[in-house]
Amino acid sequence: MKKHNFQPESLMMSYGYRPEWSEGSIKCPIFQTSTFVFNSAEQGKAYFEVAYGLREKEESEPQGLIYSRINNPDMEILEDRLSLWDQAEACAVFESGMSAISTAFLEFLKPGDLLMYSKPLYGGTLHFIEHILPKWGIDILGFRAGMSQIEMIELIKQSGKQDRLAMIYVESPANPTNDLFDLTVCSNVAKQFSKSDKQVMLTVDNTYMGPLWQHPLEFGADLVIYSATKYIGGHSDVIAGAVLGSHERIQRLKVLRTFLGSMISPWTSWLLLRSLETLKIRMEKQADNAQKVAVFLEGHPLVKKVHYLGLLKPTDQAYPIYKKQFNSPGAMISFEVQGGEKEAFQFLNHLDLIKLAVSLGSTESLVQHPATMTHAGMEAQEKELYGITPSLVRVSIGVENAMDLIKDIEQALEAIPNEIRVSSNNSPLSKVA
Ligand SMILES: *Cc1c(COP(=O)(O)O)cnc(C)c1O
Repeated sequence: MKKHNFQPESLMMSYGYRPEWSEGSIKCPIFQTSTFVFNSAEQGKAYFEVAYGLREKEESEPQGLIYSRINNPDMEILEDRLSLWDQAEACAVFESGMSAISTAFLEFLKPGDLLMYSKPLYGGTLHFIEHILPKWGIDILGFRAGMSQIEMIELIKQSGKQDRLAMIYVESPANPTNDLFDLTVCSNVAKQFSKSDKQVMLTVDNTYMGPLWQHPLEFGADLVIYSATKYIGGHSDVIAGAVLGSHERIQRLKVLRTFLGSMISPWTSWLLLRSLETLKIRMEKQADNAQKVAVFLEGHPLVKKVHYLGLLKPTDQAYPIYKKQFNSPGAMISFEVQGGEKEAFQFLNHLDLIKLAVSLGSTESLVQHPATMTHAGMEAQEKELYGITPSLVRVSIGVENAMDLIKDIEQALEAIPNEIRVSSNNSPLSKVA
């Protein structure tokens, strides 16, 4: 079966697996095994040569199964299926999003290199970049949304380290504010500083948009990273990660993964295979619900500002990027309530259906307070700069009934103390005129 004859959602139940491999079982079994038996010593030798990168694989040669830290059928089938959504040449899966991210940094950066990264970033990634990479002699340079190509180039030149730029790392939209970065601009900047012997890589963490709503490889990215814990897993029951890109780069990551031991387990792979079957219908329902919730929030007098791609207007600076890069506004909303932390907490503590927990992309809706939770580690000054205010809450919308979600939000907003409501109703900020 050719891979592009059918759409990915049609292939998620069968691609990369044949029932005759497993007694006719329609589903791929869980290959709960640590090691695999070779047919001959010659075969074992050949498998190791390829797995350890000692020689290139022949065109027709299979990569034989060796040991579950190196490869396993559940892991490989998962990698094949994940590649379809982004039309990537190859994929490597990991035991967490953070191990996917850290393995990519360790493989593609070396002491003396400069890493440029978008801000704000996912907290774990930010910690790895700002506190761990510098210990290995890697210089770092942050940049924020809205910078033009010329401004980015100028920033790199001003750092005095332009010859050492090795990677540009971007999250777009940014978490939790939904700020957008133009990937074409980032790719152009990467090309500008590339030399014949050293290509500057563009790496995009696409977790926020899942594999459906933005395809960074189409806009010049070299690597796409997912926390598969989020939309791909989608049921708040696994931690996992993935990186996609060219055969050559993904092979390098797989070799490092083998030696770090950060591969995914057969059981987690199997759960993700199951999740992938419903990826598209889950994500579409989530986005549909999110649009309805966002419109409700925008019209509510106790809500100061809503950050949601589906509410961008043609006059907004981010609008052209949204139109070019995204297939959907997604299911992540952040918004500020009238007041500060106290009012935000009142709201959070009164939600009933929507659960107060970090993470995102699951079937159930989740809500959290970035300033004191996911982004608690950021300096106060930085939080202010990036709009992570005390009254900001972030919601990941699930597959529940949209009216039930709205009802839950409405009753929790009503729990915000009276003083604020009276003053906001009289304030010019009020949206009910
Ligand atoms: C959750 C998340 C990660 C980290 O993934 P884990 O699976 O928790 O290790 C990285 N990037 C983004 C954008 C995330 O939301």
